[in-house]
Amino acid sequence: MSGMRLRFPPSPTGKIHIGNMRTALFNWLWARKNKGKLVLRIEDTDLERSTKEFEEIILKEMKWLGLDVDEGVGIGGDYGPYRQSERIDIYQKYAEKLLEEGKAYYCYCLPEELDKMREEAASKGEMPRYNQHCRTLSAEDVEKYKKEGRNPVIRFKVPDEDREIIIDDIIRGKISFNTSVLDDFIIYKSDGMPTYNFAVVIDDALMKISQVIRGEDHISNTPKQLLIYEALGFDLPRFAHLPLILDENKAKLKKRSDSDTVYIGEYRENGYLPEALFNFLSLLGWSAKDDQEIMSREEIISHFDIADVNKSPAVFDVEKLNWMNGKY
Ligand code: GLU
Ligand code: ZN
Repeated sequence: MSGMRLRFPPSPTGKIHIGNMRTALFNWLWARKNKGKLVLRIEDTDLERSTKEFEEIILKEMKWLGLDVDEGVGIGGDYGPYRQSERIDIYQKYAEKLLEEGKAYYCYCLPEELDKMREEAASKGEMPRYNQHCRTLSAEDVEKYKKEGRNPVIRFKVPDEDREIIIDDIIRGKISFNTSVLDDFIIYKSDGMPTYNFAVVIDDALMKISQVIRGEDHISNTPKQLLIYEALGFDLPRFAHLPLILDENKAKLKKRSDSDTVYIGEYRENGYLPEALFNFLSLLGWSAKDDQEIMSREEIISHFDIADVNKSPAVFDVEKLNWMNGKY
């Protein structure tokens, strides 16, 4: 049995759509292919937008498509709890560690002060950014800000020297970033919740995730996450960023009219067969070596390889989905 551990970590801030479900499916296929484990983690640190109702919709639609998980919300396992809102103590502990080691710091700047900073940089022709003002606050400054009732955020201290950060992506090959393009980014918000980039690294490391498969929209987050892995001394997973899904006009896929939808629930309600949608989603960015289109679940699992996923965007073609639905 392979030790491969994969994860699907949706944010319950909306109905689950084609893009999320394709990510869930590719993780599921790769876990099944490797006889590994799939972990379902609910990323609900955005307190205002996360709801139990959306969480239930995610679970229901995954079940309908037949995407079972091995560990996670509602299932248990060795590394839970699997809802980020129930893991706040854990993130807190790691934030404190970074603060103690001088790898992170409290920032008391107000939104209007940050705006001014960015304007100043822009007016000098520089990249609009945080000027690291709070890296070197005196005890008096801190006292003063506290008296004013300011709630700080915690920022990660991006190493000063310019450095290449390389993501060795399973699908896209080497992607390189220079640390000079990164601001001292926020790891803890003023409401006392960790940011996505911080919580995701701690969870993926503690849950022993070996491969992180997610949408390409996260590529710009990955260098920040690599710096957090390094600062906390965690082992790195491999990364695989899935191509975008576009509509037939090559625009970002979204719901445009009542007769057109990107939400999985509406396909279910409109009588689409889960097997057809499963088959269709598997071909959004991947194809079998022999270009076979209609395949059973078992055939898809046996042909699937994450390294064969395309770099170029996939096109969502509802005609093709309808055609497939008629074949089942
Ligand atoms: N909660 C994040 C999202 O849904 C997870 C991204 C990731 O896979 O790291 O976009
Ligand atoms: Zn500041």
